[in-house]
Parts: sequence; structure tokens; C-alpha cells
Amino acid sequence: MSSKKIGFNTICTHLGEIKDEQFKGAVSPIYLSTSYAFEDVNIKRYPRYFNTPNQEALCKKIAALEKGESSLIFGSGMAAISTTLFAFLKKGDHVILQRAIYGGTANLVNEEFEKHGIEFSYVDTHSTESFQEKIQPNTRVIYIETPSNPLLSIVDINAVAILAKKHRITTMIDNTFASPVNQNPIELGIDIVLHSATKYLGGHSDILAGAVISTEKKIDQIFQVAKNFGGSLSDFTVWMLERSIKTLGLRVKRQNKNAMKLAKWLNKLDDITTVYYPGLKSHPDHKVAKKQMKGYGGMLSFELREGLDASKFQKELRLIKSSMSLAGVESTILSPTLTSHALLTAEERELQGIRDGLLRFSVGIEEKEDLMQDILQALEKIKITALQH
Ligand SMILES: *Cc1c(COP(=O)(O)O)cnc(C)c1O
Repeated sequence: MSSKKIGFNTICTHLGEIKDEQFKGAVSPIYLSTSYAFEDVNIKRYPRYFNTPNQEALCKKIAALEKGESSLIFGSGMAAISTTLFAFLKKGDHVILQRAIYGGTANLVNEEFEKHGIEFSYVDTHSTESFQEKIQPNTRVIYIETPSNPLLSIVDINAVAILAKKHRITTMIDNTFASPVNQNPIELGIDIVLHSATKYLGGHSDILAGAVISTEKKIDQIFQVAKNFGGSLSDFTVWMLERSIKTLGLRVKRQNKNAMKLAKWLNKLDDITTVYYPGLKSHPDHKVAKKQMKGYGGMLSFELREGLDASKFQKELRLIKSSMSLAGVESTILSPTLTSHALLTAEERELQGIRDGLLRFSVGIEEKEDLMQDILQALEKIKITALQH
């Protein structure tokens, strides 16, 4: 079945599936062999070569979801990200990254690149000009992540892609927060799309995986490094991920809807000072988001007014769980100050606009009324204790 002729949810449910010729089962059988007889000299199947039957089938589905020619799946999002960056950067090269990127990616760059003689620059504001200003003769890669964590700021994907093409620079995007449901960067001119499949692609908080999508040629360049780094995904998890993606479209559309309703509702509460959601007209990057996103996603952040304690608020929630991860069908919340951005100094956090009252909310598929009720009862409880002090 060609991906050009079928719609998103049909790709999710069917594309790439392995036919069970023997028993006519409804779903792809799982092949756990690490050893396969030679079909001919060119096909040497081995899990670390990213070419078991289940791996190949799932890669077709993921490539189609992102409208790319080809893809590879990895044992984690970071395995996909590190392998891909190292496939396009060598000693003496320079990479430009936006400042607000996933903490693990920042650690990879800050802790590993200097050892390998790779130069890097961060861009603090997200205007296209600020990327342009950092371009050097040895710049090989521009790396973006939009919407960003935790303030959901937006980079103009097409503008960055055009800038990079002019300078023959390869572009990469971490598309985890948007998911392929809401944003397809390849259509906007980006060369390489990365995902932590641990998040929306998996969607049930029970899988660690990563993916990269691009042209056949670029995927082959990444594969040459990937087979040496050895970050392939176990076929059990490949199968789990195939199953999870069947409901990707349904899950994320529901999460978009819930997040939009909650963002608008939170925006009206007196105890909340600011809501960060690209779907709100008040979001500083709303216009760019509207131009490049098909939906605004399930992630939002909000700030409690001064005097209300974010960690006490989290403890009083009954339905919404405190959790480091995100994008599951269940709603989760965290305080960036206490978790993802705890290693920064208070000044650095302030500079990035991350205040102590900020909470990052991964909106699930629950009934929105129940989520609202949970937030209201937690606010009431912490307001009583705030009065007592
Ligand atoms: C979680 C995450 C990653 C890293 O993925 P792992 O699967 O944990 O290795 C990368 N980017 C973003 C935006 C993430 O949320």
C-alpha cells in the first residue's frame, strides 16, 4: 500500500504491517531471531543492522507518518539524536542549536562535542536572524526543537530551512512535542526529523524508543554510524511501538482538543498568571504556530500567582500525576524548576523565563471536566494553607 494514497489514520493502522501468511492473524507477527539464513549475499539480517522484519515494517510506517522516504528506529530518543548528529558532524565542524532544547540533547552537546573537536553555538532568541548571525564557514548543521520545552516557544521552520539551504547547511528538528499528527517538518523544507518515540509515538508511558526520518540517502549516512554505535531497538519494543502507533492520530487529536480547552480555561483563572500554549492568541508565537502546525499539541505550561507554591499544588492533585515524562494518555505535570531545569542557577532560569511557579502540563485523554475539577480542588487546598501562613 503506497502512503501517498492513504490518509493518516490508515497509515497508523495498516502501513508496513507484516502479513501473517501462516495463521492469518490480525496483527503483525513478531520475529525475535537474531540469526537469519542468507537469502543472498546482500541481505544480512541482524538486529543491530536495523533490518529485522519487524524493524523494517515499522520504519515504513514511521517514514510515511512524517512524509519522508525512509527512517530508522532506535533504542531511545537520545540514541537517535546522538547517532544522527555524529553522522553529520566531524572534527572541525560547527553546529548551531537553539538554546531551549531537550536537556539530554544539551548534555550530549555540552559534555561530548568538545572531546570530538566539534564546535557549537546556541541561539537565545528564536528569530531567523539570530540563527543567521551564528553561521560560520564551517557550520554544517542547524538543530531546532519546536514547540520547545517548557515555554512552548515556536521557531519558524520554513524560514530556518530556507536560510540553511542557502548556506548548504543540513537542518535537523526534534519533532517530539508536536508529533507527526501536528507538524511535518519535511514538508516545510527540513532535512532530518527526530523523535523520542518514548513520548507521543509510544503514548502509554511504557516504551523507550527513538526515530529518525529523512531521504534514503541521508538515512543511509546515519545507518553507517548507527551500526557502529549499536543503538537499535529490541524487536519486542518494535512490536509494542507498532501497536501504539495505531492509535496515534486518535490520541493526539484528543490531546490537542483537551489542551486547547484547558489552556483557555486556565487563562481565565485568577490564581494563574500566565498560560503558555501556542494555540492561544496571546502566545507570542501564535501566528508562526498557526502557519506551520496542523494542531497545537497536548503540551502547555502555566504559572501560579505569587504566594502559591507549585510543589504543594502538585502534591494536592489527585488525578493528574507528577511525572518526569510526558505525552502519555494520562495527564502528568512537573515543575521545571525542581526537575528538568534544576541544574541551572536561579539567574539562568530567570533568563530563560522559567519562574518557580511554572508548571508543565502534559494533557492526557481524560474528560476535561475531571481535569478541571482536579486543578480547582488542588488550588483551593493550597490557598487555605497559604492563608494560614
Ligand atoms: C524525551 C525527549 C527526548 C529524549 O528521548 P529519550 O527517549 O528519553 O531518549 C528528546 N527530545 C525531547 C523533546 C524529549 O521530550
